[in-house]
Amino acid sequence: MSLDHDPANQPLTVAPATAKKLEKLGIRRRFDLILHLPLRYEDETHLFPIANAPYGKPVLVEGEVIAHEVQFKPRKQLVVQIEDASGTLVLRFIHFYPSQLKQFVQGKRVRALGEVRRGFHGDEMVHPKTREVLPGDPLADSLTPIYPTVNGLTQPVLRRLIHGELKHLSLAETLPPELVQPLRLASFAESVRLLHAPTPDYSISQLTDPTLPAWQRLKFDELLAQQLSMRLAYRARRQGRASVIQGDGRWRSQLSANLPFALTAAQHKVLAEIIADLAQPHPMHRLLQGDVGSGKTIVAAMSALAAIEAGFQVALMAPTEILAEQHYLKLASWLQPLGLTVSWLSGSLRKKQKSAALEAMASGATHLAVGTHALFQDDVQFARLGLVIVDEQHRFGVGQRLALKDKGAEPHQLMMSATPIPRTLAMSFYADLDVSVIDELPPGRTPIVTKLINSGRREEIVAYVNKTCRQGQQAYWVCPLIEESETLQLQTAVDTHAQLSEELAEWGVGLVHGRMKPDEKAAVMAAFARNELQVLVATTVIEVGVDVPNASLMVIEHAERMGLAQLHQLRGRVGRGSAKSVCVLLFETPLSELAKARLKVIYENTDGFEIARQDLLIRGPGEFLGARQSGVPMLRFANLEEDIELLEAAKEWAPHLLERWPKAVEAHLDRWLAGREHFLKA
Ligand code: ADP
Ligand code: MG
Repeated sequence: MSLDHDPANQPLTVAPATAKKLEKLGIRRRFDLILHLPLRYEDETHLFPIANAPYGKPVLVEGEVIAHEVQFKPRKQLVVQIEDASGTLVLRFIHFYPSQLKQFVQGKRVRALGEVRRGFHGDEMVHPKTREVLPGDPLADSLTPIYPTVNGLTQPVLRRLIHGELKHLSLAETLPPELVQPLRLASFAESVRLLHAPTPDYSISQLTDPTLPAWQRLKFDELLAQQLSMRLAYRARRQGRASVIQGDGRWRSQLSANLPFALTAAQHKVLAEIIADLAQPHPMHRLLQGDVGSGKTIVAAMSALAAIEAGFQVALMAPTEILAEQHYLKLASWLQPLGLTVSWLSGSLRKKQKSAALEAMASGATHLAVGTHALFQDDVQFARLGLVIVDEQHRFGVGQRLALKDKGAEPHQLMMSATPIPRTLAMSFYADLDVSVIDELPPGRTPIVTKLINSGRREEIVAYVNKTCRQGQQAYWVCPLIEESETLQLQTAVDTHAQLSEELAEWGVGLVHGRMKPDEKAAVMAAFARNELQVLVATTVIEVGVDVPNASLMVIEHAERMGLAQLHQLRGRVGRGSAKSVCVLLFETPLSELAKARLKVIYENTDGFEIARQDLLIRGPGEFLGARQSGVPMLRFANLEEDIELLEAAKEWAPHLLERWPKAVEAHLDRWLAGREHFLKA
């Protein structure tokens, strides 16, 4: 960029040790200091007489040290007594340095900022912030900003650095008045000045109000920078070249004829979007969204067939072996009867099988390759790769996406999310993709009743499983997730299976878990599908892909340990037939606040998009985005839920800016994302 000699982009002139600490805060260039905004504020503008200092909020008091001592009971602590004209106060320090003692020599004056509370021996402050003063030292005339920091970097140092740059750097407007005025944005310069150095007329509550125009401005700028960089990435991709894929429909119509169902209108709609993209001479990057059970797999299969009809190969990747294998089995069952070759590639293949698969892919004999990360490896070559389908795209990193691109001419990409992505995330972090949504479930699904039950009532639940089987229905029993140990999890499943086999002696009780050999697993699943087994005990391997419409009861043990997406996936295994379905979530008390929040959401909602939205509220975007977050700039100030209006405005304005004010775009991106936008080119 041409802005390299802009002082804003110059590296910091600080000691290397300080630079290292600043780097941890993401501060590399001078302007980064300006964008390092306070977390909160402290009020050191007003002194309270000790006797009148209110409880329960931070207050500043000043007094003379009348005594200090180090006590050893109940634990080592420094206790200081200060006095002003109105009364005395105890300052208590559990952690202190010997050097601190010097500050509290009798007769010295100190100011202490903290919350006063009633202690055993009168009023006290625990761990106040203290400073030695001389009589009559002036008070701060405005609120003190407190910044996010790291160990060893003090607030005064940060403040000095930031305030220095506020004086020296240009805070000129990056955006044209044609945008600033209709959106009624506060000026950038005034906004950062106010937040870093508030004028005396602002209170703490005003300054920390997210609707304060200064915060709104910074949030908007941040969201706009995100939208601009996403759109630029989108544009760059549209300039890339990819094969034009136009199949004649012969395999698709054959598969349709073989299917026991017809596609829903929603499936037809998204498929049409995908087919139209494939016919373009630039690479598709489309995200296929749909709730659990909405039928994404058949859409993926039809898309693959379109590419195969046109003479291209297709690769489908899933992040885990189990998921990949389920896709393989399903797709092979659809494509092999058409005479097409489906290859399987995973890390656990024996050498001979692996080289056979590799050869088939390289020679072009393979029509569709299904696998795990193994498909990314260097030894994998395709003769004519036209389309890549990635399931659970958020689990794959940018680097991996790149590796695949290098395999030939750039292939089209279809990404699928196993669980819905909330609209706000799709609008922001996924704005570089085109999105198709399957917004309708296949017909014939019945609503699921969810019950939250304390695990103390396990016996009743076993009786309920019994009753369900007597009515000719089947049940899943999902064993708890034990994160610390896979072996322990396996053991629990084996134990539960043994116990339920006794308790439900009338019925066939099967067991599946992740360590079984694929053919053993397949045999158990097939027996369950044929109703030779009525109860299936499983680890979370059945989270994905299992489809037995006659199963109408799902019991999940230790539901409090599972994430919302996982619970929603599991519950989606029932409700596929015509019988009324029930999902019993067994939980163990005491429940953490997080677990309580999650169980409430899953109990109250069945719509996956709503569950995803709540999940986002509970967890924040970081975890949600998974690997994607390493590729796109995170938001520091904007909050997707609170700031939806700003997000919408940024989304609306980004294309106009790109078209009419490219200089403004350059300046804005430079201010907000300098040095980071290269990630997006991936
Ligand atoms: P997901 O979107 O969760 O991946 P799947 O692709 O596994 O969903 O589909 C769920 C189930 O619905 C599968 O058994 C699939 O065969 C079935 N299915 C998909 N589309 C339809 C349809 N249009 N009508 C009836 N059943 C369908
Ligand atoms: Mg699926």
